[in-house]
Amino acid sequence: MAIPKRGPVVAIDGPAGTGKSSATRRLADQLGFVHVDTGALYRAVGLMTLEACEADRAADFEAKAAEISRTVNLQFRHVARENPRNRVLANGRDVTGLIRTPEVSMAASRVSAHPEVRASLLGLQRRLGCEGRAILEGRDIGTVVFPDADVKFFLTATVEERAKRRLIELEATGVDAPSFEEVRRQIAERDHNDSTRAIAPLRRAEDAVEIDTSRMTLDEVVAKMEETVRSRLGLAARKTADPA
Ligand code: C5P
Repeated sequence: MAIPKRGPVVAIDGPAGTGKSSATRRLADQLGFVHVDTGALYRAVGLMTLEACEADRAADFEAKAAEISRTVNLQFRHVARENPRNRVLANGRDVTGLIRTPEVSMAASRVSAHPEVRASLLGLQRRLGCEGRAILEGRDIGTVVFPDADVKFFLTATVEERAKRRLIELEATGVDAPSFEEVRRQIAERDHNDSTRAIAPLRRAEDAVEIDTSRMTLDEVVAKMEETVRSRLGLAARKTADPA
C-alpha cells in the first residue's frame, strides 16, 4: 500500500557518471532537503553478497543477494554539509568507502536485476522519501519508486564524458583506478544491464525534465535543477549575498 508523502519528493534518475550524485548532493544542500542515494543501497547489498560468496565458495550469488536484501539493516547517517557523502551503514557497519570500488559497482548492477532484491529495497526507499523534503537519486525513482514525485529529472551524458568523470572520481578516492578503456567498457556494460533488465529498467519517466550534462558544468546543472524545483514547488529563490 502506498505510504502518504509528508512533503515534496524530487526524483533524479539517469545512468552512471552523469554527475547525478554530485548534483543531487549540492541541490539537496541548497534546498535544505534530505539526499537519498538509492544506488548506495544496491551497492551495500552487492558488497555483502561478494563477501558472503568469498566466505562460502559454494554459495549461489543470486540466492545470497536475495537473502541479504531481505535481512540486512541498511541506514543512512546524514552528515554535516562539509562532508561530501552521507555515511551508509549495513547492519551497523560503516561501508561508505567500501562500496565505491569498480568490483562493487558491477556487483550492485548484478544484484539490482534480481526481482527479490528490488522488492526488498523498494519499501525502504519509499519510507525514506515519504518523510518529505527528500531528493532521491537512482535509476527507477521517477518510474517505480515515486511515480508521483513532485519534480522529476533524467540526467544523460555521452559514454566518453561519463567514463572521463568516473575515472577522475575513482582516482580521487585513492582506489587502484583502471584504464580509461576499462572504465568506459564497465560503464557501457552497466548501462546495458540496467536498461535491459526485466524489472524496473533504467528509462526516463515521461514527465521527467531531461538534462544532457555532457557540455555543462556542475554549477550549471545544479542551477537549472534548482530553478525548476523552486518554480514547480513555489519555493522562494535563495537569498544571495548583498553586493558590497
Ligand atoms: O548510482 P550507482 O552507480 O551508485 O548505482 C549502482 C547500481 O545500482 C546501478 O548500476 C544500478 O544497477 C543499481 N541501481 C538500481 N536502481 C536504483 C539505483 C541503483 O538498479 N534506483
